[in-house]
Amino acid sequence: MNHKEIIEKVFEKINNIEQKGALAAYIPELANVDVEKFGVHISTISGFNFGMGDYKENFSIQSIAKVFSLCLAYKMLGGELWNRVGVEPSGTAFNSLTQLEKDKGIPRNPFINAGALVISDVLLSTWATPKEELLAFIRSLSNNQTLNYSARISASEKSSGYRNVALCNFVKSLGNIENEPDNVLDFYFDLCSLEVSCQDLSQLFLFLANEGKTIHDNKQILTKSRSKRINALMQTCGFYDESGEFAFRVGLPGKSGVGGGIVAIHPDKYCI
Ligand code: GLU
Repeated sequence: MNHKEIIEKVFEKINNIEQKGALAAYIPELANVDVEKFGVHISTISGFNFGMGDYKENFSIQSIAKVFSLCLAYKMLGGELWNRVGVEPSGTAFNSLTQLEKDKGIPRNPFINAGALVISDVLLSTWATPKEELLAFIRSLSNNQTLNYSARISASEKSSGYRNVALCNFVKSLGNIENEPDNVLDFYFDLCSLEVSCQDLSQLFLFLANEGKTIHDNKQILTKSRSKRINALMQTCGFYDESGEFAFRVGLPGKSGVGGGIVAIHPDKYCI
C-alpha cells in the first residue's frame, strides 16, 4: 500500500470509533472546540502531499509550538542551552511543580511547561521583539505568510493560567529565569496560541525530516546534527509522561498539544 491508501484506511477506522478523551477545558476557549473535527495531512520530502477530513482548518496547536521556540533558542545558544534545561523524559505531568523543586529549577526537558518557559526566557533575552521574530521564523518554514497567533486564545489562557504563573515564578525564584515572569508568560501564552492547519503543520515540520533543511526553499534551518537532537527530544519527551507509550505504539519522534494536534516525523521520509 502507498501512503495515500494507508491514510485512507486508518482515517476510516479512526473516524468510526467511539469518541474518547476530553477537551482541554482548563483553557476556557478550548472548551468551545467542536469535538467532531478530525483531519490528517502528510507531506513527504519527495513532494507528495495528501490530506483528509478537516485538514485545511486552523486549530490551536498549543504545545506543538514549543518545538519552534526550542529550535530558535538552540540556534541562538547552541550547546549552552542544555545548562538551562535538561534532555531527560520527565515521567511526570507536563505542569508538575514538585519535580522542579528536586531539580533545583532546571526543568527536565524543553517540552514540559517549565522547560518551555525557560526557552521563552532565552528568546526574550535574545531579542527586543521576540513575538515578531518567532512569527517570522515560523512563516519562513513553509512560506505561509498568513500564519498567526490567536489573541482570543492567548487571552483566554492568560485569564486562567495560574499553574503556569506558579511554575514561572518558581523557576525565577530558583534563578533560572532572567526576565520579568509576566513578560515570559505573555510570550509563552502567545506561543501556545498559534493557529495552524494540519496541512501547514506537516509542511512546517518537514525540515526536521530533511536533516534540518526546508524543502520549499532549500534553507538550512538547523545543522543536521542539531536537527537530529530535536528529533531525539521529540521521541523521548514529546508526549510528556506518555512518551514511552507513543514510542511503543507509533515509534516516531512527535509532539502533542492540548488543542488536540499531534505531529510526527519519519526522518528522511515524511511529516504527518
Ligand atoms: N498552553 C498549554 C499549557 O500551558 C500547553 C500544554 C500542551 O499543549 O500540552 O498548559
